[in-house]
Amino acid sequence: MSGKYTNFILPTVAVEGSRGAGQAYCATCATALGEPGAHWKTGSVLTEVALADIPGGGYDTGFPGVFLRHFCCPNCGELLDTETSEAGEPALADALVLS
Ligand SMILES: [Zn+2]
Repeated sequence: MSGKYTNFILPTVAVEGSRGAGQAYCATCATALGEPGAHWKTGSVLTEVALADIPGGGYDTGFPGVFLRHFCCPNCGELLDTETSEAGEPALADALVLS
């Protein structure tokens, strides 16, 4: 985590401001992630890989259409978070509040 910030919602995502109106930042390079008050994932770069296509087969659930999503910083490329989801589902608006 960067020494610049004191509040984090993930080890890779810092926030400044009040809940619901705060601004999220990449903790590595300080790039703003999305608009203030919006979920930080809207300002990240999203890539999806089908679980069945991940080498080794360990993630294959047998259900086509389940993806591993990678949310990365649009500036430095840091991997900010991952989640699994079915195709077309909105991103999870989850956060672990760290301070
Ligand atoms: Zn970054």
